Amino acid sequence: MKTCSKLASFAQAFNAEGDVRICGWFKHPETIIGNLVKNEFPEIMHSTQAMKIRNMVANGDFSMCCNTCPFLAEDGRLQMVDYNDKLDYPEELSISFEQYCNYKCTCCESNFQHDACNELAKIKERYDIIESRIRDALPYVKHLGGHGTAELFCSPRTLKLLSEWNPKAPKEECDVFLETNGSLFNEKNWGKIENLGDYHLGVCITVMSFNEIVYQNLSGTSMPVSNLEECLKFVRSLRDKGIINYLELATVVQEANYLELPEMTKRFLDEFGADCVRLRPIFPGGIYDRNIQWFFDVRNPNHPYYSMYKKVMENKIFEDERVFKWRGDLDSPLGPHPVYTTDWHVNSWKGFTWKHLRNILPMGISRKIEMSYGQVDKNGVRHKF
Ligand code: SF4
Ligand code: SF4
Repeated sequence: MKTCSKLASFAQAFNAEGDVRICGWFKHPETIIGNLVKNEFPEIMHSTQAMKIRNMVANGDFSMCCNTCPFLAEDGRLQMVDYNDKLDYPEELSISFEQYCNYKCTCCESNFQHDACNELAKIKERYDIIESRIRDALPYVKHLGGHGTAELFCSPRTLKLLSEWNPKAPKEECDVFLETNGSLFNEKNWGKIENLGDYHLGVCITVMSFNEIVYQNLSGTSMPVSNLEECLKFVRSLRDKGIINYLELATVVQEANYLELPEMTKRFLDEFGADCVRLRPIFPGGIYDRNIQWFFDVRNPNHPYYSMYKKVMENKIFEDERVFKWRGDLDSPLGPHPVYTTDWHVNSWKGFTWKHLRNILPMGISRKIEMSYGQVDKNGVRHKF
């Protein structure tokens, strides 16, 4: 069977409950193929759900693949490979179960779950099981990843697992990809995982802005932007020495930073030595009600700043082949304000009725109804996703 390369050998332990997903861009919760608290890796890799998803895509059914998938974003990125049913452990593993972060980004759906780097007794037992089952898989992993759902350098168990990695496969066949917000990527923290420099090492760092006020607001931090700049200089020194082999600097395109995008892209490339600059669009989610978040998406033709945003995107720097727009330059389909804010699926009768009703009801009444379902508080801030 030929299926998408992600589905053939990938697994991500992506939350504090121990759930494992087979692809980060496949619809949730269908993408969950098992749970590390309840199952060993061999059971998870051969679970009924894992096989169902592999078969779907092998038969050309991509209906559950999100349109944010980077492999579907451009022709030639999707790889269909032979599925090896003998694999009991993932060859590609992303360790992202610890949910700690030093930021509270406004666009982050899960930032309200992120505690300080402070493990509570009640989750210790669960984390112990997850950690030991990941440790069982580590020797078989060829492509290792760390984080993508919280902050790498706030995750002590993840750092420990990364530091212990000793794959059975020859080093030349192995690689690592780390995702971080960069604000703690300094010499001291790098020392905890410097063994990863022995492999082909890729790093992706997401930066919201180099403007202090915008950076602090979008990242939900009081750290000065100069700290981040120092960390990026340190990362560049690792890239220059060939310890890091691929450096991706990314941002989330939105109303607060779109005017800065050409300058930010230039700094990413020239000052911090990025091999790739990734411009990611803002997706629905984050701490605010969707009607407030609507204003963040300047890619929306209904947005009052849309024409200014389009002008900014004409800048020649975005034609540089190192800039990957990942739909960051495409129009958003959000539509006019106000937007649909309930969790009822738009194709259900409740969702369909509510979508139309809320557009004609006064805001106070529609908000009251949404509040009664626990979706937003009186200030329009969502607490349930
Ligand atoms: S095409 Fe994209 S969303 Fe679909 S399985 Fe592959 S990586 Fe996942
Ligand atoms: S740095 Fe990442 S994980 Fe932390 S709050 Fe921001 S988006 Fe969420």
